[in-house]
Parts: sequence; C-alpha cells; structure tokens
Amino acid sequence: MNFDEIIIVDWSAASKPGRGKDSIWIGQAGGSRLAPVNPATRTEAMEILRDRIAAARSAGRKVLIGADFPFGYPKGFAEALTGKSGALAVWEWLEASVEDGADNANNRFALADQINQKMGKNAPFWGRPRSLRLAHLPERGRDRGEMRFAERRRVEAHEPGTQPVWKLYTTGSVGSQALTGIARFAKLRAELGAICAVWPFENIEAAEVVFAEVWPSLMRSEVKAVEGLYPCRDAAQVDVLARALAAAPLAPLFETGESPEVLAEEGWILAAGKAELLCLGIEEPSMLTPPRLRNDCFAMPQGVEWIPVDAAQERLRMALVPLATTEVLPVAQAGGRALAADVVARRSNPARANSAVDGYAFAKNSLLGEGPYTLPLVSGRAAAGQPFAGVVGIGQAVRILTGAILPEGVDTVVLEEDCAIDARRVAFDGPIKARINTRKAGEDVAEGEIALSAGRRLAPSDLALLAALGIGEVVVRRPLRVAVLSTGDEIVAEAGAPALAHQIHDANRPMLLEMARRWGFAPVDLGHVVDDPEQIAARLDVGARTADVVLTSGGASAGDEDHVSHLLQTRGQLSSWRIAMKPGRPLAMALWQGVPVLGLPGNPVAAFVCALIFGYPALSKMAGVGWRKPQAFMVPAAFSKQKKAGRREYLRARMTHDGHAEVFASEGSGRISGLSWAEGLVELPDDAMDIVPGMPVHFLPFGSFGL
Ligand code: AMP
Ligand code: MG
Repeated sequence: MNFDEIIIVDWSAASKPGRGKDSIWIGQAGGSRLAPVNPATRTEAMEILRDRIAAARSAGRKVLIGADFPFGYPKGFAEALTGKSGALAVWEWLEASVEDGADNANNRFALADQINQKMGKNAPFWGRPRSLRLAHLPERGRDRGEMRFAERRRVEAHEPGTQPVWKLYTTGSVGSQALTGIARFAKLRAELGAICAVWPFENIEAAEVVFAEVWPSLMRSEVKAVEGLYPCRDAAQVDVLARALAAAPLAPLFETGESPEVLAEEGWILAAGKAELLCLGIEEPSMLTPPRLRNDCFAMPQGVEWIPVDAAQERLRMALVPLATTEVLPVAQAGGRALAADVVARRSNPARANSAVDGYAFAKNSLLGEGPYTLPLVSGRAAAGQPFAGVVGIGQAVRILTGAILPEGVDTVVLEEDCAIDARRVAFDGPIKARINTRKAGEDVAEGEIALSAGRRLAPSDLALLAALGIGEVVVRRPLRVAVLSTGDEIVAEAGAPALAHQIHDANRPMLLEMARRWGFAPVDLGHVVDDPEQIAARLDVGARTADVVLTSGGASAGDEDHVSHLLQTRGQLSSWRIAMKPGRPLAMALWQGVPVLGLPGNPVAAFVCALIFGYPALSKMAGVGWRKPQAFMVPAAFSKQKKAGRREYLRARMTHDGHAEVFASEGSGRISGLSWAEGLVELPDDAMDIVPGMPVHFLPFGSFGL
C-alpha cells in the first residue's frame, strides 16, 4: 500500500467562482511537496488534478487523491435511486445528472428536489436558500417527516463532528459537496479507466490512481498550530493532511473493520478513528508552535571552562526558537520581513510567450529553403500592452515590439536590424532558429511553483518577483523586538550631556539599537541603569514585557561589580559563558521571565564583535530567517602576527586597494575609532598561526553580517 504522491482536495460546492476561505484548495506532498493552490472553479480544480495525475504517471508514480466529500450514502439509497446497489451506481447516476458549468453554476438543489420527488414520501434531502422555492426540497431537516434511510453513515459514528450527507445548505453543506464532487470525480474515474480505483468500493492494489474520502478535521489541532502560516485554514488543512499521509504508515489506515456490504454502499473516511496514526507521520517542522525555552537551555555541560566560539554558537542555535506570530501584509509593505510560508506563483512569468526584441514575427514553418526570405506583412502590429488581435497565417509576418505577446500562429521573431522592409513585405537572411528572440511562457517561473521559500527576508528584488507573479499579499512574521539596555555607574546616558572626569558617554546603546534597526528588527530602547540590582531588575521586567529579546552591555563578567551577571544568576536563569575569543570573552546568556537576555561585554569593541558573532545569527533565528553565517572571503593578509593557540581572534580590518586585508593598528578593546575605520573583521582560527604578509586569511565584511 504505497503511494508516491498524495494529493488532497478541499472541495466546495459554491455556485460562483471564488478563492480564499471556503473555496477549493489542493495540497500535494510525497514526491513533490507543492504549496497549496486555490482554483476558482471546480472545472479548474479538475484540470489541475488531470495535470498532476499526468505528471505523476509519466514519472511512473502512484497517486492517492483524497477528497473531503462523502463518497457514498446510507444503506438503501443507491437501490432506490438507480435500481442497483453499491455506491458506484450512484456515482454513474450523478455523473449523468449533475449539471455543473465552468462558471460553477450548477443544478444541485433542483436535482435534489427531483430525487426527493422520485422517492416520494420520507425523501432524504433538505436544505436550500429560502428564496429558492422547490416543492420537494424542504428548507429544514425537521420538515422531512420520518426518513426512509439512516440519517448518518456508519463511519460518521467514529467521527461525530461530521455533517450528514442529506444536508445541502448552511454549515458544512456536505450534501451539496457530495453531489458536485461525486459527479466530477465519477467523470475523472471514467476518463482514467482501468488504472483508477475508488476506495473502498474497488480493489486498489493494482491501481495507479486511487480516490479516497478524507476528512481534514481529523487533524484539527495540528492544523490549528500552523494555520497562521497559510493564507487560510483550508490551505493549511490540505497541506498538513497531504504531508501527514505522505509520511504515515498507510496500510493500517486503509483497514476499517467494517463489513464489505457497508463499505460498498456507504464508503468510509480514510483514517477514521485513527487520527493518532495519521499524526505519527507529521514531521516536526519549524512551523509548529515553538516550545517555551527551558530554564537551563543555555547551560553548558559541567566542567566546561573556556568555550570555543563554534560550541557557543551551536548551543545558542539549538536553544533559540523563531517567533510564532505572523501577519498578512501587502507586498509593498513587506520589504525586510521574514516570509512565514512559502509563496507560490499565481501567474507565470512571463505570463504569455512574448517577443524579446523589436522586429518581425512569423511561424518558423513559414520559412522554406536556406533564405534569404521575403514574407508579406499583415497589417497592424503587436506591441507591449497592445496585443495583435488577428491571426498570422503560415507564410505571413507581423511587426512586433519588445514585450508584445506572440500573436496566434507565430513562434519566431527576427531582429529589425536584420530586416529590409517596404510597405508590404519584410526580407531577411537565414538561417533562422525556431523560437529565436522569443521568451517562453513561464520560462522564468511557472504558475504554481514555489517562488520564494519560508524564511526568506524580503529584499527589494523579491518585491519585484512577487509583484510579477501576481502576488498581492504575503504571510510574514512580525518584526523581532530587540531591547537594548546599558548598565554601569560610570555611564552618562544622554549623548552630548556634560560628563564628569570619571564618567563616560554611553556608546554601546546607540550602536546596538542601530544594528537591530539595520537587521530589520524593531529596536526598543531600555535606556541606561546604574549598577543597582533593583534598578536593573525593574528595567529587565520592562524589557521582558515589551521585547522578544534583550541585549545588555556592561557588567557581564563574574567580578564584584558585575551586577548584571549577579542578578541574572540569582533571579533569572544565567549561564555565564567564558568564550575563547578575543575580543569579547564574557558573554552572559540568560532567561528573564522567559525572555532571552544576551549579556554583552561593556567594551564597545567587544560588544560590537559579540553582537556580530552571536547576536546577528541568534536574533536572525528568532526572527524567522534562520541562523545566519556571514560569508567569509579568503584574501591575502597585508600584516604580520603571531597568534597564540586556544582562542579565536577577530581583528578590525579592511581591504586595501590591491585586494589585501589590512588590520587596525591597535588591538585595544577600547579603541572605538578602529570600528569606524574598519569595513569588516579578519577571523583567525582557534589554533596558533604565524601570519606573514600574503598568507590567506578569512575576511568577513560587515555587509555579510547584514550591516
Ligand atoms: P564592564 O563589562 O562593565 O566591566 O565594562 C568594561 C568596559 O566597558 C569599562 O571600561 C566600561 O566603562 C565600558 N563600558 C561599559 N558600558 C559601556 C557603554 N555603554 N558605553 C561605553 N563604554 C562602556
Ligand atoms: Mg561595569
């Protein structure tokens, strides 16, 4: 019982075309995980299914198509309707009787009225719009009198949340879904012939395409956890169910424990009563609601003294989880935000085949022999935004401009510079390659393809792509709120304010706030507090209420005056990390009321380097764009240095005009001017290294840290 592709259809019986909530959604997982698509009509939906079945079959892949409408009716209905027993008799009858137009207009209410009339007293169907007066189709279920069939199918006893198949209108309108769905799927079944089987009415062992009834509410809590990442719940349902079925052990899901007679007549919901098996299959994607951080999440294993940079980063990467809150934004306002869900092209780019040049267009078949060629020109022209209305016959050519869609009959364009023309003709030399100077529809991106993946931070170019693909809105995460707090008795908080001899101005806070802003986060200024535990605690409380993460600077070592560490030690959950790196060493990782606090060193140079090496990737992960590693370039050194083993070093550096990395004259951690002088960092490995000019070293430009 194996399927290579799982396709899930959330059906709709709507009478008009529609998208979004309560319209048709199709999800697919297995071999190809495709983002959910949202056809506006049932006709379009069936076209998509035909295409996907064809694609799977040409690759020799077995397909399971799950659809969320009842495949059968309670006992006795098939016989009463068709004179034959078994659900497939109903399928054939409905295929012949349901009229369902390309615009979704359909006769379901009139047909149910007819069926009721045919069945006489105690007929089953009910529910219709009040304005639709049909003598045999009551508006309410209780107006039916005593009913001749069971109200519910056997399978519905396993899943009490289901709606009865007789109800055609309002909540669920499952009856309408069944009438329209069965008719459409019966037609598809007939087209597919022997390779198709409908479960549980037919033997599915040898089938290449199997239809089965599904019920997405089986996974309602899994869906609820992720639905914010999708355009609507229906989209989430089809994706979650498809992924679950693609990963679940399928054989037990097809076991019903029901008698063959009941199954043949009423059908069954795949996995009914077995939701726990279904949920087994669903992997733990990063999309699920993240767990709360554990109190000891930053703790290093016992006995670790100096932590290598890589180990500290790994610890941090494991401990932090992305923000869960998402919102839907118009594309024009989404720049800089993290995509919370994959974005699917609604339209191909180019949408239609068009011309890449100004010239003359014709069918390649028109050219006989080696050339030169002369073709008569049809009157009129094709320009961007002004399509040519007529048809260009074989042996004819038409004037065409760049970006014009290719008129009917045309597949090739010759460049105007290569042509001679008069009022009626165009002449040019050969050879000419078929389709030259044209752009194929979808050659850039095809409709339905994933254009940008979840986690992408939207760049200006991405907005162009989204707009070109017909996308108006995207689901993004809200900006990460990053609070910045400075500590220390010696600090003067206000820039430019008078300072006494023993005081210094707060350099770290403006720097860190601006870094957060450049990274696309929402900075929260917590100001400055003196080295007083109560005041620091009160300010951290504010940070925990107003931000997702807090960056402090100063007081992070384990010394007497290091109040931040001390406070976090006693009242938060602190892991003070002594990191084997220069500059920077002490780094405090803590939770304050569940909010991560990154305690940076006080020295501005060390605070800056630690913010780049730890803050940038860690905050990026929290923001939903994933742990970011800066791109390093190997370049020859313009300096000499004997580097000791046992710690990683970061030197303020920049590139010389001849492509060497030079470093700032002083390595002193207080030399703030060196940060302004530098354009990046040279990273020297943990091991010893004797650097001489010309030796390759790693240069990390500030730009690759998102600055
Ligand atoms: P600490 O980590 O508190 O021991 O501070 C180390 C050094 O950084 C000391 O010289 C502090 O005065 C200095 N420092 C601490 N915070 C800041 C700040 N916000 N701006 C500039 N220098 C600071
Ligand atoms: Mg201090």
